[in-house]
Amino acid sequence: MAEFYAGVDLGGTKILTGIGDADGRIIARSRARTEVEKGEKRIVKNIVRTIHRALEKAELDRDKLSCLGIGSPGPLNISAGIVYETSNLPFKRFPIVEMLEDELELPVLLENDANAAALGEKMFGAGQKAEEMIYITISTGIGGGIISQGRILHGCCDGAGEIGHMIVNPGGPTCGFKQHQGCLEAMSSGTAIIREARKKLVQQETDAFLGFNGSPGELTGFQVAQAARQGDEAAREIYEEMGFYLGIGVANLIDLLNPELIVFGGGVMKARDLFWEIMQHSAADHAIPAVKQDCQLIEAELGEDVGLAGAIAVAISRG
Ligand SMILES: [Zn+2]
Repeated sequence: MAEFYAGVDLGGTKILTGIGDADGRIIARSRARTEVEKGEKRIVKNIVRTIHRALEKAELDRDKLSCLGIGSPGPLNISAGIVYETSNLPFKRFPIVEMLEDELELPVLLENDANAAALGEKMFGAGQKAEEMIYITISTGIGGGIISQGRILHGCCDGAGEIGHMIVNPGGPTCGFKQHQGCLEAMSSGTAIIREARKKLVQQETDAFLGFNGSPGELTGFQVAQAARQGDEAAREIYEEMGFYLGIGVANLIDLLNPELIVFGGGVMKARDLFWEIMQHSAADHAIPAVKQDCQLIEAELGEDVGLAGAIAVAISRG
């Protein structure tokens, strides 16, 4: 009898749910609004509803499901199945696993969303041959997960893998945590790119960004990338700096963990042509050469499905 697994990518605004087979193929999916403002019970109800809907689409009975994996923003207590307060899910202590197990009568496994994505790329994406691998996602923030000996590295209290908060430029801008000056997220995320671009506009570099003439608040990452591609100096500088600091972060990871592979995903990778080479050079300049030599840097393969595939991977790996 075929075995199937459910995965939930839980976000602050939406719930993405999928049913996958043992090879990670997503055979049905459904989505709902999270409705955080309506409380924990409503979130659980919304998740359960998406699972039933996905099962219907897959024409499967619920007893064909072996396990449910959830990728959630952290901080979490994985073994206790608890989501702590985050900026996206404002609960003090949300016992999501217990609540879902009661509703679904199914084993439920919780994982940090970035760790789940790392496992997804390891099992079904760019990292399938690697046992020692790091996944980095660069979007509005920077997150990641570390795979060691084929498994997610959790640390003592499920806090490992906060790649975005490594300090790469002491004294630099902050990520939102006040004391966090010059972390990778503050230097190389999509938010950092926009911040620097707007700063340049405010400083009245009037020719910047191909003579963009809106207010600085209207400038988007896409416009900065387009300007850089057309040779705009101010825009190019931003990507050069972002790539340089990303390379320092990558070098630190290489020296610390000796991975065979680092996989890069997230929306900012759409502009990889503007920073990839600079990042590679900076990583080579800052890492121990012999260790760097063993490590390949490549693009993620799962695209926007990574969260869902990751949650299914969590269910498969521990189900
Ligand atoms: Zn930070």
